[in-house]
Amino acid sequence: VIEIGQPEHSAVTTCAYCGVGCTFKAEMRGEEVVRMMPYKDGKANRGHSCVKGRFAWGYATHKERILKPMIRETIDQPWREVSYDEAFTFAAQKMRGIQAKYGRDSIGGITSSRCTNEETYLVQKLIRAGFGNNNVDTCARVCHSPTGYGLATTFGTSAGTQDFDSVEDSDVIMVIGANPTDAHPVFGSRMKKRLREGARLIVVDPRKIDLVKSAHVAADYHLPLLPGTNVAILTAMAHVIVTEGLVDETFVRERCDWSEFQDWAEFVSLEKNSPEAIAKISGVDAEAIRGAARLYATGGNGAIYYGLGVTEHSQGSTTVIAIANLAMATGNIGRRGVGVNPLRGQNNVQGSCDMGSFPHELPGYRHISGDAVRDQFEAMWNVKLNPEPGLRIPNMFDSAIEGTFMGLYVQGEDILQSDPNTTHVVQALSSMECVIVQDLFLNETANYAHVFLPGSTFLEKDGTFTNAERRIQRVRKVMTPRNGLADWEVTIGLAKAMGFEMKYSHPSEIMDEIAALTPTFTGVSYQKLDEMGSVQWPCNEKYPEGSPIMHVDGFVRGKGKFVVTEYVATDERTGPRFPLLLTTGRILSQYNVGAQTRRTDNVVWHGEDVLEIHPHDAEQRGIRDGDWVRLTSRAGETTLHALISERVAPGVVYTTFHHPLTQANVITTDYSDWATNCPEYKVTAVQVSQSNGP
Ligand code: SF4
Repeated sequence: VIEIGQPEHSAVTTCAYCGVGCTFKAEMRGEEVVRMMPYKDGKANRGHSCVKGRFAWGYATHKERILKPMIRETIDQPWREVSYDEAFTFAAQKMRGIQAKYGRDSIGGITSSRCTNEETYLVQKLIRAGFGNNNVDTCARVCHSPTGYGLATTFGTSAGTQDFDSVEDSDVIMVIGANPTDAHPVFGSRMKKRLREGARLIVVDPRKIDLVKSAHVAADYHLPLLPGTNVAILTAMAHVIVTEGLVDETFVRERCDWSEFQDWAEFVSLEKNSPEAIAKISGVDAEAIRGAARLYATGGNGAIYYGLGVTEHSQGSTTVIAIANLAMATGNIGRRGVGVNPLRGQNNVQGSCDMGSFPHELPGYRHISGDAVRDQFEAMWNVKLNPEPGLRIPNMFDSAIEGTFMGLYVQGEDILQSDPNTTHVVQALSSMECVIVQDLFLNETANYAHVFLPGSTFLEKDGTFTNAERRIQRVRKVMTPRNGLADWEVTIGLAKAMGFEMKYSHPSEIMDEIAALTPTFTGVSYQKLDEMGSVQWPCNEKYPEGSPIMHVDGFVRGKGKFVVTEYVATDERTGPRFPLLLTTGRILSQYNVGAQTRRTDNVVWHGEDVLEIHPHDAEQRGIRDGDWVRLTSRAGETTLHALISERVAPGVVYTTFHHPLTQANVITTDYSDWATNCPEYKVTAVQVSQSNGP
């Protein structure tokens, strides 16, 4: 029993883990958290929470947190603690020196989906206005960038269509490439409640996730496709819907471009897209594909929820488009119970994208080449902006190795652990002359850094996060920043040292500037958030109370756009040396690369990543449950324990990526989404063999 005492003060704030965005009352005794109480008025969670939000906050006071800025000339030197001013001056001199030597475009930065909207906005502002280029990208590059592309192309906006409450009116729920009960547990529970009430369920996933069969819930259809065949399956479902006359023609004629629909319908009707033909590609029974398509099209309100199993593929953007096509063809858009809903992994991945973290877009998803938009920002920021899109993260790495991109500011992301092809990332980071890392801990990327700026936790700052349903919610400070400054103040300090002054006395002023510049945010203010609790964008003159559901009267782009989605097999192929396909995912108690959850000692966490392998494949290799196994791909190898399981089909293996020792990204390939460069994490040809351990 731990004596924690009674709380002395509290504040309502938002969980800093997943994109559900649960609200908590942080109850404090002095500077110590007594408990995090799920908040019953929280619109995303209604008093519920998962184990991470409720208990995994101990990292805020973990002994490994770095609380002082540090610098070093070269990465083989020891770190030297300095004042913030000295660190800012040192970093600015290096970055300016690089620009003098290699040109204006030789530096850039990466924003974080863990930080607040206000902090993200400031980083992209520093890069565009202070660095003078558009070399800004976000960690969404490696997760949901295809969502941005796919939904903007078809519907006209880069966001999910529904609020979470909408699921209460769903009759058919289709979950594709997502595992909500582990990765989005509070929303997963709401989904299960609706399923227990009688909604029907389709699961498209290579693995038997919990939803396929658990207490009181069983999928009507589980389509256990081979990793990499999403587009084939979705096109086969479209084939059934079109050829069996299940299209909602009234909706399509009124709301979509009819001519584009006809082209699409003609394409999906081809014999090569029939369930029988696709069964040979995907490994899924043709009758199951037919049954799932009929159920989605005719079962009432059909809602699609998807995750990284959709986006992290070489056809990630095509898959998002294929999902949007299905929803439009069946009229499942624009009311409660339906829609296309990306389940965002990180607390503020939606917000980081909204805030202009992409190299081609200013806040509000407006292209940097637009003169009128640039004029507006130039007037507010008092600078001349570069109209040329900047570099994406993979291009930054390639340019570093080529010797043209030499300085990087990374806020709140461990790119060495989270980006694909670790060897390539190491090579890129080692080539740079100045790497500035701003984080809570000396992460893996910091091994290659010259400047370390301490980060602050969500408990130590004010701001807002935007969850997966576009809900903007307040983050409220309950602790004095242990490192002295909140993240937004650090960015301002760095900007000033670089000669670009940004003056704000509180994050609310940053939000006022965002609202003044972003049409979907014009009605957002801290006062409104305090009054309403939260608000979903667009929130403006037209929708002063926000917008729980989008595309109600028409698509944001005007007419909904059907796009032909031709299945193209990934270049990553199995063969005699690498006969199995590896795919990856998460577990409930851990979070991403584990930077926070592994440093939380108030619960017992899962200790290691294991490799799930089907009994048939294990027996062929003489592998027993719990044995060490070597996992080898064309890119590299790692060692982990085997877990023999029928959750995966023969020919498929599965692991999580929470522990740095697993180095799952040493195994993954260089292939990426054709439209956005999102890495193809979900398909790697591998071999598994016995091992004596690491
Ligand atoms: Fe936090 Fe997500 Fe868990 Fe809610 S479901 S408590 S937002 S990790």
